[in-house]
Amino acid sequence: MKIAVLGGGVSGLSVARYLHDENCDVTLYEMEDQVGGLSRSRWVGEYIFNIGGGHSLSPKLKEVIDWVFSIMPRQEWNYRDRVAKIYIGGEYVSYPFELSLHELPIEQAVECAYDYIMAQQGEEPDNFRDWLTWNFGKAIADYYLLPYNTKIWNYPLEKMETGWVRGKMPLPEKKDILRSLLLKHDPDKQRMPHTNLYYPMSGGIQTFIDAMAAPLCMKCGEPVRSIEKLSNGKWAVNGDTGYDIVICTIPLPCLPDAMEMPESVSAAIKALKFNSLTTVFFSCPDNGLTDLYIPEKKYRGHRICFSGKLAPDAAPEGKNCGGIEIIGERFDFDPETYLKAECVIPEELGAEKILDSEFSPFAYVIHDTDYRKNTTLIKEYFTQVPGFELLGRWGEWNYNNMDLCIRDGLNLGKRIIDSIYVK
Ligand SMILES: Cc1cc2nc3c(=O)[nH]c(=O)nc-3n(C[C@H](O)[C@H](O)[C@H](O)COP(=O)(O)OP(=O)(O)OC[C@H]3O[C@@H](n4cnc5c(N)ncnc54)[C@H](O)[C@@H]3O)c2cc1C
Repeated sequence: MKIAVLGGGVSGLSVARYLHDENCDVTLYEMEDQVGGLSRSRWVGEYIFNIGGGHSLSPKLKEVIDWVFSIMPRQEWNYRDRVAKIYIGGEYVSYPFELSLHELPIEQAVECAYDYIMAQQGEEPDNFRDWLTWNFGKAIADYYLLPYNTKIWNYPLEKMETGWVRGKMPLPEKKDILRSLLLKHDPDKQRMPHTNLYYPMSGGIQTFIDAMAAPLCMKCGEPVRSIEKLSNGKWAVNGDTGYDIVICTIPLPCLPDAMEMPESVSAAIKALKFNSLTTVFFSCPDNGLTDLYIPEKKYRGHRICFSGKLAPDAAPEGKNCGGIEIIGERFDFDPETYLKAECVIPEELGAEKILDSEFSPFAYVIHDTDYRKNTTLIKEYFTQVPGFELLGRWGEWNYNNMDLCIRDGLNLGKRIIDSIYVK
């Protein structure tokens, strides 16, 4: 079985590696010189830069973690707590915000707790803006969630649907809100999602990426320009012929120029919404943080993921480093003067030096109100195309993090192998 995998991010690499280990003849096409996609990292001096923002692995899915450890042994992974804060009104409030209200001034805490307990009355709204207020109460929405989500999506929240967000945003029990206020600490942090993470002990997330890629046949620095179905039923990619199956993890908007498809499908693809990201990487003194959320409008970025605390070798002793995530068009700045400009990074962090930056044209899928209509049409069409599979954040056009991308890659790999044995 000869298979072409388009795109060398986590999705493409996991399915390619699974099929390679099952003795398929796999070739992976990646337009960049380095594989990893959004999950790439590189050394900048003594610091690890996560090119696409934070990239630690959730321990949640056992089947994924078992496979990950078969590629890179457990002892090569650092397992630690997330230490996340929300920077609000000049204060650092612990994550999750709802269980850390005792860290706010008392009147604000009471307002947030009261609104949260009184929330979820009446019919559940179907647009994201109203849904945030309906779910979390007005005060938490106004102080934190609305300004934060306005920045991360850079798209009108009232024109976004809500189907994707359920289960993704932690929603504490109302009783736990009261409990945390009285106890003055989060009563049961371990029950919330995203509290622990895995990250390679050494060399950044790229160490895992490179471990997956090691035995694969890859054409790097080769953008996919053409995908053709041949008269003998096989596929050709960039003129290389003989593929039984093509697995596409590259962004759907690349496809209309590369392959034939009905006008309606191409129009649905062109109507899909997504946003782009600039990551600005800087060093600072050790603050112990792994993540800082910055809802306030006056700061341009919405989050800093601190790679320096994810592994023992990711920053020198006494230092941390982080990537500030800035959504929108490529963010051009002068690294020499950037730190001196107002409101770029909260001053208390004591940012010392801009080390690097990177632009990612495809960062987040936007679940606009036409999302379901367009993705359904696109997927219904491609399901009918024999030997062509869509996979990953950009092939399936969804929010999935690395663990879900790997799960889907392994499931697709298993389905392909099962189909060979059935034949
Ligand atoms: C800011 C941010 C922070 C994140 N943090 C985390 C986190 O902490 N933990 C986590 O689990 N997930 C995180 N994620 C999600 C994670 O990045 C994705 O789940 C995962 O990287 C998606 O992998 P992918 O292979 O589907 O897509 P990508 O990583 O985007 O891979 C697609 C690949 O296709 C290539 N490509 C594109 N066009 C072409 C072409 N024409 N020809 C050939 N190749 C092409 C690209 O170069 C890329 O390598 C984060 C995402 C963002 C944006």
